Amino acid sequence: MLFSESFIFTLRQDPKTAECRSHQLLLKAGFIHMVSSGIYSYLPLAWRVLSNVNNIIRKHMNSSGGQEILMSALQPLEMWQKTGRDKDLAEIMFTFKDRKQRQLCLGPTHEEAVTDIAKRFVSSYKQLPFILYQIQTKFRDEPRARFGLMRSCEFLMKDAYSFDIDQKGLDASYEKMFSAYKAIFKECGLDFVISEADPGAMGGTISHEFMVGADIGEDLLFCCQGCGKFFKDKGSCPDCGRLLEDKKMIEVGHIFKLGTKYSLVQEAYYLDNKGIRKPIVMGCYGIGISRVISAVAEVSSDEKGLIWPSSISPFDVSLIMLDESLRAGALDLKDKLECKGLSVLVDDRNESAGVKFKDAYLIGNPYIVIMGKKYISECTVDLENRKTGEKKSFQPEELLRFIPDK
Ligand code: ATP
Ligand code: MG
Repeated sequence: MLFSESFIFTLRQDPKTAECRSHQLLLKAGFIHMVSSGIYSYLPLAWRVLSNVNNIIRKHMNSSGGQEILMSALQPLEMWQKTGRDKDLAEIMFTFKDRKQRQLCLGPTHEEAVTDIAKRFVSSYKQLPFILYQIQTKFRDEPRARFGLMRSCEFLMKDAYSFDIDQKGLDASYEKMFSAYKAIFKECGLDFVISEADPGAMGGTISHEFMVGADIGEDLLFCCQGCGKFFKDKGSCPDCGRLLEDKKMIEVGHIFKLGTKYSLVQEAYYLDNKGIRKPIVMGCYGIGISRVISAVAEVSSDEKGLIWPSSISPFDVSLIMLDESLRAGALDLKDKLECKGLSVLVDDRNESAGVKFKDAYLIGNPYIVIMGKKYISECTVDLENRKTGEKKSFQPEELLRFIPDK
């Protein structure tokens, strides 16, 4: 991608509306556009990061037996009246009537919708178990929408639902999702902790939250100053007795064992191998995808800007071309890097070196390659590691060997 042809526009000034570091950096670096308070559009840079996260999620969901679907965002309110959650979630649901006076809502979550699908198609134990998931926009009229993508009224979620014949089956599905979640957050470059949580309005029994430590976090966990373990309640460490210190956390994922809460009320039954009618045993598993990218931005930056982990960065390489006479060389190097599976943003704009460096640091791609006068005199380029700041000169061929393939 050539910067001169791209829809990438960074801001010179710090945005005044920013409420926290990630919000400020994502606005300033031109990743997101604030449509209105709590409502954002994803611009090309953010969409590239989100797509990378989506691909990581799809890889791990599919390899854990998940099948991707896409349910409607529009849902009849009737479905919610059946489970009574129209009342539980009344505060955050966007509800309205269509032209036929049918009451609708924009889905804040999809337990009712997916249970309805299972009820329609499942009749026998032979059809179980299965796991369905989707990547979709959710709508919640959040009373405290804030911190940009961290808590917005329209956000991207991956929600998965497991369907089993019994508790043992659910335990196995839950275990699969638990492992997949660990792999997903790890691959996204997040340092996370897992806490056993209160299932709240979702119902059910056991649940786990995946948390990332950050000062703006809205959840609290208690960390042992001795062994470093995290707990839900304050006091002293049950393992080593040391005092627990509270730490603010961002919840990026939440998994629940729902049991038969939804299948009983919505009558999603199956016939077992003896012909006995039984409710399907369910689990649900959510990841806040847009929250994940703001959590990464929140915990991974320096005074110059964002620092993306290479697994989800918008591009692998920012190639700064310091003079128009270097265009052919820059395009040649770009092609060769792309042959290695790497994505490259060539800064070929008619801008000063200062502006180009500033933007490369702000956007935060993991490798910055600088092509300047030395390319003409010695045929070398400089490589800077965005995270470590390490710099090294290379001949183009050496550079291609040094940066790992994708
Ligand atoms: P929170 O306590 O932060 O409101 P929640 O318990 O309501 O979260 P879930 O219903 O479990 O969240 O949704 C699954 C995931 O979706 C959460 O773990 C979180 O990462 C994300 N999420 C929830 N609400 C929002 C929001 N308003 N904006 C962005 N992401 C969100
Ligand atoms: Mg919530």
